[in-house]
Amino acid sequence: MPHRIVIVGGGAGGLELATRIGRRHGRRGAVRVTLVDRNLTHVWKPLLHEVAAGSLDFSANDVNYLAQARWNHFDFQPGELCGLDRGRREVLLAEALDEGGDAMAPARRIAYDTLVLAVGSRSADFGVPGVREYCSFLDTTQEALRFHRRLLRRYLQAHARSSPDAGPEMDGHDALDVVIIGGGATGVELAAELRRASQRLPAYGLESIQPQEVRITVLDQAPRLLAALPERLGREAESTLRDMGVRVKCGVAVSEVTDSMVTTKEGDRIPATFVVWAAGIEAPPVLGTLDGLETNDRHQLKVRRSLQTTLDDAVFAMGDCAACPMEAGSGKVVPPLAQAAQQQARFLAEHLPRRPEGRSLPDFCFRNRGSLVSLADDSAVGNLMGNLMRDVTMEGRLARLFYSMLYRRHQLAVHGAARTVLAVVLSRIHRRTEPRLKLH
Ligand SMILES: Cc1cc2nc3c(=O)[nH]c(=O)nc-3n(C[C@H](O)[C@H](O)[C@H](O)COP(=O)(O)OP(=O)(O)OC[C@H]3O[C@@H](n4cnc5c(N)ncnc54)[C@H](O)[C@@H]3O)c2cc1C
Repeated sequence: MPHRIVIVGGGAGGLELATRIGRRHGRRGAVRVTLVDRNLTHVWKPLLHEVAAGSLDFSANDVNYLAQARWNHFDFQPGELCGLDRGRREVLLAEALDEGGDAMAPARRIAYDTLVLAVGSRSADFGVPGVREYCSFLDTTQEALRFHRRLLRRYLQAHARSSPDAGPEMDGHDALDVVIIGGGATGVELAAELRRASQRLPAYGLESIQPQEVRITVLDQAPRLLAALPERLGREAESTLRDMGVRVKCGVAVSEVTDSMVTTKEGDRIPATFVVWAAGIEAPPVLGTLDGLETNDRHQLKVRRSLQTTLDDAVFAMGDCAACPMEAGSGKVVPPLAQAAQQQARFLAEHLPRRPEGRSLPDFCFRNRGSLVSLADDSAVGNLMGNLMRDVTMEGRLARLFYSMLYRRHQLAVHGAARTVLAVVLSRIHRRTEPRLKLH
């Protein structure tokens, strides 16, 4: 009987892992890989701010799990993780629903010999009143698309009102206040992308809201933007955003969000048509209900450096949903980044298929390759770690080029070299033949 590896979550880490093991071992039959995801398609999460702003057509960048499974010799099962039976080695799946809320697969159990949990993360609201009710999030493709459609609706309504033939009931001035809470990479990238989108929309006839009437504000509790990166880069990002006309307010803590206002503990009241919450992440709460497996206060599964959960050798966790120690005794955990999920996928792809032979796993070692933050179109800021671990800071077009390489690496792992080259060529053609903004 083949060794059954079940991977739950087909994101930056899980999809690469299933593809790598399937491609290398799936055909020989010694290992059977099953990937489970609650969706039928995958979009690489770091692209979601571009989906939200409308500058990326997600349908040209999504991966269909069924086709990917067929081409790479693994099985795909739609389903939502809802529990675990460690005694019987079965993972419990709730009914998988499509976008219309109809069932596409029933609730069921799937047996495993090795289980890998790679279900990612979601925004943490930190208990701030109004966040869940009134904020948009960039946690899933559906949420990013929903934000984009709301934004576009607002432009179309303004367009209809400004028509010379519109009746008096259509009177009213349209300005737009977008407040982004969180000045980390996601908030900064979204602000830059939205500013570019507001500058492009008039070119498609939607000039009723002029770019200067789109007021974008980024708020952060920390004293500066990009607090996780060197100070110089935070300052660089702030001055670029200000040059683009984005307001930046650091050192302010949001105390409440309503349908039209963001209030801070410092007493600011900021009008808001749309509020995007990008202030921090936590793992999905379902991980706290998995048959006694240990989690931390962000619901991440506690794992050893082999990525095995602390209480069960047969259950692994990787990516954003795992709290993996950086070094023994350091107290630090591997950061929730796509590059960490990718490195863990490579690590597990090499070592998991050897488990049936009784080999123990070595320690995973995270190599920080630096972080780059996109400032739309042709600019980025960030730092790269060289081979000698010298920290090289960069900005501008070169930084943007390195930024896009992270996605290319993901495409290479998922599609292989030939299809990645084809995808790059097609996206260049697409840019010339389609509007630069998604207008539906
Ligand atoms: C806007 C944005 C920009 C970012 N930019 C960068 C960047 O520039 N560089 C960088 O390194 N990182 C970046 N990140 C972080 C990066 O996206 C994550 O660290 C990375 O995606 C984590 O990979 P993962 O495999 O753990 O989870 P994910 O990629 O989030 O995948 C999780 C998968 O699990 C599935 N899933 C979730 N719950 C369930 C369930 N209950 N049952 C079944 N399936 C489930 C989801 O559908 C998804 O497919 C960015 C994140 C965002 C939101």
